Parts: sequence; C-alpha cells; structure tokens
Amino acid sequence: MSEIVNLKDVGKTYDKNGQKTVALKNTDLTVEKGDFFLVKGASGSGKTTLLLSIGGMLQPTFGKVQVLGKTLNELTEKEKVKFRADNIGFIFQMFHLIAYLTVKENILINNQVKEEKISDKELIDMANELGISHRLNHYPSELSAGEKQRVALARALIKKPELILADEPTGNLDHENSLVVLEKLKKYCDNGGTVVMVSHDNQPDVFANQIFTIGKKTENL
Ligand code: ADP
Repeated sequence: MSEIVNLKDVGKTYDKNGQKTVALKNTDLTVEKGDFFLVKGASGSGKTTLLLSIGGMLQPTFGKVQVLGKTLNELTEKEKVKFRADNIGFIFQMFHLIAYLTVKENILINNQVKEEKISDKELIDMANELGISHRLNHYPSELSAGEKQRVALARALIKKPELILADEPTGNLDHENSLVVLEKLKKYCDNGGTVVMVSHDNQPDVFANQIFTIGKKTENL
C-alpha cells in the first residue's frame, strides 16, 4: 500500500481581534491508496478545516500535511495551485459549478490549467457513464440537484486525479442520487483512486473502508 495523505499533529486556531477559535486540534491520520476514507464528527468539529488543509487551501497553524509525498506547508501558493490542478479533484455540497458555462464547459474546466488535454471521446464516455450526455449543452440552472452533482463528479473524475476530496457531496441530494454519487466514488477507489470525504450522516458508512471521527481513533472496516 502506498501512502497518499499523512497528517502529523495538525491543528488550526483562528485568532480574530485576540479571540481564539480552535478549529482543529492535534490531528494525526494516514490515508492509503485505494482508501475510501470518511471523516465524520459533529458540526463545528473541524471536518471542513481538515479537508481544506489536505487540499492545501488552508494553512494549518501547526503540524505537517503531506500529500502524495509532498509537504504542502513547504510549497508556495503557486506551487499548491499547480499541485492541486495536477493531482486533486474536488466535490462540494453546493456543487460549485460555474453558472455561465455549459455542462460541457464545466466538465472541461481543468483543460485550462492542465497540460494534458481531455479528448472529446473521454468527455462523451464520462457523460454517458454518469447519465448526463443529453445535458452537455445545458446550463447548471437547468439541472436537478442530482444532475448538478453528477456534473461535478464528471469534472473531478475526468482529471483522473490521484485523490478526490469531497465535502458533504451528498448533503443536498435525496437518497437515490446520493447512492449514485457514493457508488461512483467507491468504483473510483476500487480502480486505484483515493477518496477523503466529509459527511455528517450515516449513509456513506457502508462505502468507506476507514472512518475517522474527529477526536477519536480511525476505525478500520
Ligand atoms: P465542520 O466542518 O466540522 O462543521 P469547520 O471546520 O467548518 O467544522 O469549523 C470548525 C470550527 O472553526 C467551528 O467552530 C467554526 O466556527 C470555526 N471556524 C471555521 N472557519 C473559521 C474562520 N474563518 N474564522 C473563525 N473561525 C472559524
């Protein structure tokens, strides 16, 4: 097994006008290649802080974050942007699609930053697999929540990233649409991808092989 993510004693404290908020306390964890790694915990326990630290979008106050062998704390902002573009896919609860771009343009958005371009065939195959091929020329506002999240999933998967970070990706979906998203993420892990996903509910538990509850030890399932 190879290590994809390693956190050592990672913590984040916000300090606004002398008022300190501890967002994340002394966190150690390891995510291996192929893991469907679920992060759980009460609201406000630091789940999003943890995920953003792994994505290098947030600088922890202390501790060390290693992703794919790189120590993110040591990279410049520009290096982090490139590292994310090359290696990490993101899926968010609120989809984060660009309203004025079509579904096709949203899925291909990474073509603007990645050197290796996505072909039309890859796009069509991905759209067929996710059942959105008839929607490619539509705009996000014309889609259901389930379709929007499948577009976001297509955008993440088509990069063939080593790692997908998902923040409550089923939080705005009904049970059936949630299952589609979870099954696709599981399939991606079975094919050698790695997922770190934050969730507050129990539906994703059966898909995960590791559950990390903030403040407790990792459970191997
Ligand atoms: P979760 O995702 O588990 O709900 P978060 O990681 O979003 O938790 O937040 C953890 C804690 O840090 C919360 O108490 C939250 O209010 C606080 N927090 C998050 N972001 C900020 C910020 N930018 N400034 C101050 N406090 C913050």
